[in-house]
Amino acid sequence: MILKNYINGRFAPSRYATVRPFLNPADNSEIGQVAESSIEDVETAIHAARKAFDEGPWPKTPAQERAAKLLKLAALIDSRAAQLAEFESRNNGKPLREAEYDVADAAGCFRYYAGLATKPQGQTFEVGDPNIVCQTIREPIGVCGQIIPWNYPLLMAAWKLAPGLAAGNCCILKPSELTPLSVSVLFELIDEVGFPPGVVQLVYGAGDPVGQYLAASPLVDKIAFTGGGVTGRKIMTAAASNFKKVTLELGGKSPNIVFADADQNLALEYAMFGIFAGQGEVCSAGSRLLLERSLANSFLPRLAASCEKIVVGPGLDAGTEMGPLISRAHQKKVLDYIRVAHEDGAELLCGGGVYTDQRAVGNFVQPTVFTNARPDMRIVREEIFGPVLVVQLFDTEEEALRLANDSIYGLAGGVFTSDASRAQRVVRGLRAGITWINCYHPTFNEAPWGGYKQSGIGRELGTYGYEAYTEVKQITHCINPQPLGWFKNLA
Ligand code: NDP
Repeated sequence: MILKNYINGRFAPSRYATVRPFLNPADNSEIGQVAESSIEDVETAIHAARKAFDEGPWPKTPAQERAAKLLKLAALIDSRAAQLAEFESRNNGKPLREAEYDVADAAGCFRYYAGLATKPQGQTFEVGDPNIVCQTIREPIGVCGQIIPWNYPLLMAAWKLAPGLAAGNCCILKPSELTPLSVSVLFELIDEVGFPPGVVQLVYGAGDPVGQYLAASPLVDKIAFTGGGVTGRKIMTAAASNFKKVTLELGGKSPNIVFADADQNLALEYAMFGIFAGQGEVCSAGSRLLLERSLANSFLPRLAASCEKIVVGPGLDAGTEMGPLISRAHQKKVLDYIRVAHEDGAELLCGGGVYTDQRAVGNFVQPTVFTNARPDMRIVREEIFGPVLVVQLFDTEEEALRLANDSIYGLAGGVFTSDASRAQRVVRGLRAGITWINCYHPTFNEAPWGGYKQSGIGRELGTYGYEAYTEVKQITHCINPQPLGWFKNLA
């Protein structure tokens, strides 16, 4: 199997026919090979997108027709859901049940934005002059580069393509080189729907040069990125060359705050779900558990015992509750953080290592919890992006909020309490873009997603996500034009 780019309405190998293997993280076996694109490939895609936007029909196609194509795509995703979920689990490592949710969400995302495309947009303004009709309309931005990571390959593709296409843009998607499999099926379906050439394209290849070139090209009008902060900074710098519109969805170190009056069973399960769903490779992971001190003696032993019972294995094995990490390199990064945690004096509650049984061939890391963490420790401050939970204790609501907000990040946060007033006070005190009360992680295509502080710029999903793919045009129409009389001597 060799996966190809999709450029100007055709599947094509990379210019120099170079490929790279991609792997199953459960055993590091090769699944197939993927086109390794060069700058020439991405340049071809950019020119095709430019032509499609500047001269093609897509931006002016009635919203109803654009919506019909997206609805057809959603139906095709549904029809291939089982295969897509299996591919996602095989290539990313996540448990099949999680991949199934991702596929359903991806189809839902195309449906949601198909619907939004035909809903009322624009406004009319009272400007104090009865001869003037002043309005705004929304128009597509143009050519959009969309760079996505490996943790939710299909879903991130949907989050980027659905609003971009619904709004009439021409999109070039660059997936992570580690996880091309589900996206390759998505583009088979896109081909089946039949968009005009150049409207929706796929370019595989390394972040640098392919993603970097998209971010820097003066022919690209917007860049949308999900991934790590180091890469986000490079993209923003490159995008400054032509003042591209930029949306960035970056990382987090999100607090999950449990008060003593919370339902303890609920809080325990969500504390685990918050960090171990997706092996902790989730931007919004609840990676810091802030626990009211009076709970420590009852909650922590239960947490340790429950973590030890998590079924860790290949995502495609029945009953698996947590899968392997994406790569050997990432496994090493996570294990390095565990070593640093020991060196810094944090106390290991459970996990903390790899498996020596048949799982040793894969990139598995045990569900790990550290306690006695100080705010200055690296495992408290830095995003680990793996199954490592750090517990901090607090005595008062004020202290909980202070600890929660003591971070360069501000993506998400959760609060568990049975006191509704406190719940509202605390989430409103959180400097974070996504907050949950008595739950953690539910994510909706209909509601905005994005972070405060160094967790990103802009919002995806919901109406905000659609607006991020539009320019606002003011139209001022004088319905009773009169000579101005400003210049006395008109020739
Ligand atoms: P990156 O942020 O580097 O990768 C995300 C995407 O950006 C990939 O498609 C990657 O391509 C691409 N990319 C890499 N370099 C460039 C560049 N110079 N210009 C344009 N695009 C580029 O993630 P990593 O895999 O390196 O992970 C590093 C850390 O980032 C993780 O440990 C985690 O902390 C965080 N992260 C956060 C995510 C989130 O959802 N917020 C998702 C993934 C990672 P390619 O990989 O193909 O080279």
